[in-house]
Amino acid sequence: MAVGLLYDKSVKCINCGQAFQTKRMRSNSVRMEKVDTDFCPHYKNENPIYYDVNVCPHCGLAFTDSFSPILPAIREKLEKEYLSKIRIPELCGERSWEDALRSYELAFLSSRIVKEKLLIQANLALRIAWLYRYEKRPTDEKRFLEYAVSLYVSMYESQDYDEEVMPDSKLMFIIGELYGRLAEWEKTRIWFSHLFMDKSADQKWRTRGRDRWLEYKSMITNIDDPDGYEGVR
Ligand SMILES: [Zn+2]
Repeated sequence: MAVGLLYDKSVKCINCGQAFQTKRMRSNSVRMEKVDTDFCPHYKNENPIYYDVNVCPHCGLAFTDSFSPILPAIREKLEKEYLSKIRIPELCGERSWEDALRSYELAFLSSRIVKEKLLIQANLALRIAWLYRYEKRPTDEKRFLEYAVSLYVSMYESQDYDEEVMPDSKLMFIIGELYGRLAEWEKTRIWFSHLFMDKSADQKWRTRGRDRWLEYKSMITNIDDPDGYEGVR
């Protein structure tokens, strides 16, 4: 990696409270190439997503800047189900794809154990799916798209999220879009129709949803095996 793309950021662990430094990419060195319809960004050179997870070199906890501090009541569970089971990884330096994947897997695990907000859990699962997409591993990508969509659906059904951070219409769009990528056509249709029938939905998401539904519909009529998954690009 070219010198100067990364810098050290000081972070305080939300579990053990100790400070450490971890790499981030400088925003002025990020070169976006394209963005997929599920918001997966592709970069010309290095990928800043690789550095969004902090992994504490003292206790081993992986977390993002969106996590809440770990409450004392949950520490024992976290210790038993996660921290005592891993060798503390060294992930504060420059990261390979494998390092990025490991960071996200650990952060996803910790988000599940500490019952972080569903939005945080779902976003982590989606990012793991993207990591597999970068490496063209559709079976693994599909597994994490499934985790992500089921978490987004739980969010929608429980209404357990902040509308300011994730507007309803965007959430319905994402759910429809991910089901489309999973070739779950009936669910794709249902979620996009929720979006189209919601009179209060943001026009931007309705239009995007309509465009995607038309594309998916043409795929459904053009493919021999509508249940097969080949990944959608
Ligand atoms: Zn720590």
